[in-house]
Amino acid sequence: MASNPSETSTGRWLDRWPLLVPLLTAAGFLGLFQAAFLLWSLESMGGGLEMALGVTRFGIIVGVLTLLLLVPAALLIRRFHPAWRRGERHRASWSACFAPAASVAGWILADQWVAGPWVAAALEPWVEAASALACGLAAMWVQPPRRWLRAGAVATLLAILSSLLPVGGPPPAPEGGEPAADVDVGAGGAGRPDVVLVSIDTLRADRLAAYGRVPTLTPEMDRLAGEGVVFTRALAASPWTTPSVASMLTGLPALRHGAGRPLGSGPTFQRSPLEGDLTTLAERFAAVGYRTRAVVANGFLSPWTGMAQGFEEFANPILKAGFASFMRDLPLTRLIVALTPAESWGDYRAEGITDQALTWLAEDDDGPLFLWVHYIDPHSPFQADPARLDPSVLIEMANQKQPEVLADGTVVGEIFVATDLVRSGTLWLGPRDRARLEEYYDRAVHYTDEHVGRLFAALRERSGERPAVAALTSDHGEEFWDHGHFEHGHDYYREVTQVPLLVWGPGLVPAGQVEGGLVGLVDVGPTLLDLAGIEVSEPAAADEGRSLAPLWQGAADGEKRPALPRFAGGNLYNLPAALVEDGPWRFLLRANDREELYDMNRDPEERYNVAGDFPEVAERYRRLLEPRLAAFLVDDAGNKPAELSPDELRALKALGYVD
Ligand SMILES: [Zn+2]
Repeated sequence: MASNPSETSTGRWLDRWPLLVPLLTAAGFLGLFQAAFLLWSLESMGGGLEMALGVTRFGIIVGVLTLLLLVPAALLIRRFHPAWRRGERHRASWSACFAPAASVAGWILADQWVAGPWVAAALEPWVEAASALACGLAAMWVQPPRRWLRAGAVATLLAILSSLLPVGGPPPAPEGGEPAADVDVGAGGAGRPDVVLVSIDTLRADRLAAYGRVPTLTPEMDRLAGEGVVFTRALAASPWTTPSVASMLTGLPALRHGAGRPLGSGPTFQRSPLEGDLTTLAERFAAVGYRTRAVVANGFLSPWTGMAQGFEEFANPILKAGFASFMRDLPLTRLIVALTPAESWGDYRAEGITDQALTWLAEDDDGPLFLWVHYIDPHSPFQADPARLDPSVLIEMANQKQPEVLADGTVVGEIFVATDLVRSGTLWLGPRDRARLEEYYDRAVHYTDEHVGRLFAALRERSGERPAVAALTSDHGEEFWDHGHFEHGHDYYREVTQVPLLVWGPGLVPAGQVEGGLVGLVDVGPTLLDLAGIEVSEPAAADEGRSLAPLWQGAADGEKRPALPRFAGGNLYNLPAALVEDGPWRFLLRANDREELYDMNRDPEERYNVAGDFPEVAERYRRLLEPRLAAFLVDDAGNKPAELSPDELRALKALGYVD
């Protein structure tokens, strides 16, 4: 036996607790194994250290719970273990604990492997069982030195203790917090209106009655449009979420704020975050005493993409629900998740988002509130019942498979997740399926409208004692084969890049006014700051956002804001491109050098590319877009957003935008 003192004391410890030490060590192994597996699954979400800690903690808790469930099995295995009969109690105990743990790990590995295309569905359970058995039997023969076992037990104990500490969870506190130099800090928050920014993901402008929809899907937003100003020509900053929302929050065009750029060899969805040194809308409101709150539902809107910058409280229930759905992908946690009510993982439907917003509106506080509310409902997956909450749909979205053909020959059932397959051309949809998807989309828009209505009912109710202003918009639209394609993130026609924009504020914004001039998502933030009486300096360039209030105020003075071009760029799939909309023109330059020019007065549906008919117009815009497109094509992390180059400045001067 061992001769040195520490080995002897270990031996005594092991003698006193023959099952505890191996049980703890095996639990630690299983916990770390699950955590590593989860981290690997979540990698494409770009989690960061905080998520890694949270996942590791969860993995350890699951490991411990599993081992508790396996105690009876361990006792049974040990009873019949040959080493136990020989009197080698420690050896038998370790084998009895490690074998079930290794067996579970073998099952998890096989479960992941059979999910691929290599194993026939009928064989899957057999492959999983064989893998579990093989790993379990192999583990019986593994016998590490006792000091390793003791170290493993101590480490697991420490991990369990630390996982009980309140670490992680809420996003990091807002960084910087330094007021921008041009903000009037001295004024304080007193007397300022509450400011609410509502963005509805993937909402096409033409689904609102104010933009021509008949019959209406959106009675609540129609009412809002009647009480405020409608901008009929608002350009998104990008055809997908991250760059477009970042433009809304910074007032900078997508090709200059740095968010959403490809990151070298990273996965498609891992993109550059908002650059931390930019001042966000929330930081500007916080600097004059606003309480800042955000409740958002979209995986791209997180502290890790910089979207929480400046918010004291930032809730994203879809991230939590997504986490639950990844859990469900593991055999052990499937049971735990199934026993937990879906709402407790995060209600990311419009109903849950509005509930959270109303909770913050009801806070008993004198200071004014800046509230950002981002709904996800019109976005895929497409559901027959938009009110249905089922986080497991999120994991189906992440692991899309060919859908089953239904009895009537269609493939769009109650829930349709296979959007990637359709977009990439792997799955072709017939007219009935296409119509069904559009029907589900419309239902989601109608459902969202109902809960937007609840939010504004609360704002109206208290408008007597607390003035409020709001903007309602979208980050981008959605394609339903308008130009032959589906979904969003890859093209720039109006069904994707024209967004609704309503500005509302009883007593502060005129009712029932319609503005037809070109504006952009970049203008939303400066407009809200202006309405709150917060002074912001003139933008440094013509493409940066500026307040839209002079448009309706100027209507009274007979003096209009000068018309300015608005830009969109950056995409999630396929070929990058940059777009400028200016006066009657819409000009698109793709990375393969193809250019498209449309006259929006004569051809609002963008059917006839007239770049060849107006070569001088096309050339003018090409010179303006080339440097922007080049800036987006730079794919290394850490690159600064492009400044206006001398060429671009010359082009802007030639167009009369810069003196
Ligand atoms: Zn979006």
